[in-house]
Amino acid sequence: MQYDRILIRYGELGLKGKNMKMFLIQLQQNIQTSLQGFQGVKVKRTQGRLFIILNGHDPNPIADICKTIFGIHSLSLAVKVENDETKIKETSLKLLKEVEGNQTFKVLTKRAYKEFPINSLDFNRKLGGEIIKTIPNLKVDIHNPDIELRIDIRAEGTYVMSEVIYGLGGLPVGTAGKSLLLLSGGLDSPVAGYLMMKRGIELEMIHFHSPPFTSERAKQKVLDLTKKLTVYNHRIKVHLVPFTEVQQLIHTHYPDRYGMTIMRRVMMKISEAICKKENILSMMTGESLGQVASQTMASMNAINEVTTLPVLRPLVAMDKEEIIDISKKIDTYDISIQPYEDCCTVFVPKYPITNPKRDRVVAIERGFDLTESINQAIDDTKVIKIKFNDDQEINELL
Ligand code: ATP
Ligand code: MG
Repeated sequence: MQYDRILIRYGELGLKGKNMKMFLIQLQQNIQTSLQGFQGVKVKRTQGRLFIILNGHDPNPIADICKTIFGIHSLSLAVKVENDETKIKETSLKLLKEVEGNQTFKVLTKRAYKEFPINSLDFNRKLGGEIIKTIPNLKVDIHNPDIELRIDIRAEGTYVMSEVIYGLGGLPVGTAGKSLLLLSGGLDSPVAGYLMMKRGIELEMIHFHSPPFTSERAKQKVLDLTKKLTVYNHRIKVHLVPFTEVQQLIHTHYPDRYGMTIMRRVMMKISEAICKKENILSMMTGESLGQVASQTMASMNAINEVTTLPVLRPLVAMDKEEIIDISKKIDTYDISIQPYEDCCTVFVPKYPITNPKRDRVVAIERGFDLTESINQAIDDTKVIKIKFNDDQEINELL
């Protein structure tokens, strides 16, 4: 049986009123971009629905890719036929003849096109009867069938479909603007990026590194993590900030216990400057409340003060176990656990303060002016663009 298209259902987008068209256009573009390796495949929008027209391609690898696209609630492989009882019957039988072994089924007809002469319930019974007669290994089960044969009768034609395949849900990447993710090589920040992409955010990354204290491998790790996330957001810019001098100055000129708080404040300041340059309206971290010294309420308070941009922290209420589960699902876990030094761990004092007071931090910072080296770090920031490519294994995510 040759399926000729895939029906895409988009769930939550349906609630977006006037903005819905914008969401749909973005989803259409994202699907088309993800499928650029499949020549001749087209994504069509008709009457508020999306179809992928297969043009002879095998639907299965395409359906697998759809399972990595945010904004797709579910999909079904489908065949379009004329609104003609015999044609619908023939197509349905062809589809179900390929089913192996004894299975149960039910027919689920939706008749949006009322000029079709048979109502949905009657059509369910009629077609169900034909199926049992022709295919002996299939039996009807209305309540809990193995197979749901869906017949969708519309003015433009009838779609004959089998199973519903679930997607990731969420909103299409690009519909919620951009955010700058502070990406370390650890477990948390890539998961934070994934969760915010699910709400339609497009990512840019910023990473602070301190050569020679942090190695080339540590930098590569961050680029590898970014590459993993390009499955969902095809092109991601990474801003690589040289942080050695700033860290050495912090280490030399401020009391040890405040070093980490001040370093985090500087990271935020530099990130904000990059956001302004790139026209980005928010930043994002992998912080989770109480996880380490810099993630207490007092620390967040003292660190957050340096910026007026929203700082999104999607993991703030999550346990490490939950975060690890997601990192395994998105296949960043194995990269994250590689043991290369992060710039934060290199200069971190043994006993960082867990309850820093804002005023105290500000007073300490007055003792030495970091502005010049901060500006230098911003000027020397390098940008690397990471693109998704087809050799990336997406199957392991499914
Ligand atoms: P992660 O697993 O994301 O590294 P973590 O539990 O190790 O997080 P921290 O090292 O305290 O926690 O970092 C908290 C957050 O600060 C990170 O989630 C990340 O957003 C940001 N961050 C830490 N180090 C860097 C870095 N070198 N470059 C950019 N952002 C960083
Ligand atoms: Mg870390």
